[in-house]
Amino acid sequence: MDCLFCKIISGDVPCEKVYEDENYFAFNDINPQAPFHILVIPKKHIDKISKMNKNDNELVGGLFLAASKICRDKSLSDYRLVINNGAGAGQTVFHIHLHIMGGRDMSWPPG
Ligand code: 5GP
Ligand code: ZN
Repeated sequence: MDCLFCKIISGDVPCEKVYEDENYFAFNDINPQAPFHILVIPKKHIDKISKMNKNDNELVGGLFLAASKICRDKSLSDYRLVINNGAGAGQTVFHIHLHIMGGRDMSWPPG
């Protein structure tokens, strides 16, 4: 499958790795929007949240646990977690990813 994030997991495309375990992989975003901008992805390829099925429930939930561990390890207490679903919402890479952004004040609502 021709997927950029699958290639990052396999090492075919280089990245700045932040975290890895059996099911998850995390790396710095190439175009950071905050001092901390990390992408957490499941190793299993799922295009987007709306393509997940019941069996993916635990896997997608675990993304948030992995993100919370990464932030704890980086002593980051306040941060924003974002998942874009679909091109109209800003998704450009079709392999589920959780954005962690932190290290600066953030406004709400987002643009
Ligand atoms: P999306 O817009 O799909 O929610 O997020 C995709 C993210 O992947 C963007 O923030 C973009 O900067 C990041 N990105 C795209 N290509 C690469 C890459 O080759 N390496 C890394 N580390 N990040 C990438
Ligand atoms: Zn993929």
